[in-house]
Amino acid sequence: MTDPSARLIDGKAFAASLRQSIATEVGRLKDRLGTVPGLAVLMVGDDPASDVYVRNKARQTAECGMKSVERRFAASLTETDLLEEIARLNDDPTIHGILVQLPLPAHINADRVIAAIRPDKDVDGFHPVNAGLLATGGKGLVPCTPLGCLLLLRDVLGDMTGLQAVVVGRSNIVGKPMAQLLLQESCTVTVAHSRTRDLPAICRQADILVAAVGRPAMIRGDWIKPGATVIDVGINRIAAEGGKTRLTGDVAFDEAARVAGAITPVPGGVGPMTIACLLRNTLTAFARINNQD
Ligand code: NDP
Repeated sequence: MTDPSARLIDGKAFAASLRQSIATEVGRLKDRLGTVPGLAVLMVGDDPASDVYVRNKARQTAECGMKSVERRFAASLTETDLLEEIARLNDDPTIHGILVQLPLPAHINADRVIAAIRPDKDVDGFHPVNAGLLATGGKGLVPCTPLGCLLLLRDVLGDMTGLQAVVVGRSNIVGKPMAQLLLQESCTVTVAHSRTRDLPAICRQADILVAAVGRPAMIRGDWIKPGATVIDVGINRIAAEGGKTRLTGDVAFDEAARVAGAITPVPGGVGPMTIACLLRNTLTAFARINNQD
């Protein structure tokens, strides 16, 4: 294998420094106001992947000096009971961010649950009010993963005005908000999906290529424009040697790294940015609720 020519975008290090600056700001708020931001994470059922995410979120929240509340419920919890819990947290002045870990059990309507969260405490940025504010250039809360991608892109590229950006994937949690953020940066944005014709040709036009698909190594080296910045959001668990498994992205990394100008690895790229941006959103929510912003 030839050495990759692309600059490696170190999301792990960027996220660590972001968490550090958030912790410093939380310390300042505590000194000035005698209070800290509070984040409540709600989990229903015992999905093992969700369990790991929820524990990591709670740990990193506490490490930043924020108040962390974890509420875990049996999979049999009714939607009414979950909505009541959200109503309580909406009214709790010590809580500034509310996150409901997805997926929820099939008998609970996730859209209704998300819509019940106060938009200014919706630190996942999934509430329709926040999606609308993002689309109209208003001041809402932005979904954490695309926000993390944006911070990495700004760090690598600075001004993105006029660049061609291609986002592969159109989900409400990654693809669509990512496209909106890139549009706000004055990129020319194309959103591709499973019905897109000649995806390789579309990708080859991209100065910025964001892959958020969920298909291991789907984007090949010869789909990348030389010098492009590649952000790989995909997290796919695949079989590895010795009966083990490992994580891989949506981009064929070794191939792409020979062509791209800069690229995020998986793991260690976008992944660590998501929780760091959740903490950033909690700080933002706190500032707005307390009129500090
Ligand atoms: P979804 O399954 O909701 O969306 C996937 C998107 O990819 C859809 O828009 C789909 O198109 C599109 N797609 C599927 N197959 C193809 C194809 N062959 N060609 C082009 N487009 C295709 O996934 P998410 O957006 O939730 O997540 C995407 C990936 O990002 C996953 O691997 C997920 O694990 C990862 N992820 C990582 C996070 C992180 O913290 N790093 C956070 C969130 C997600 P269509 O709409 O037409 O079906």
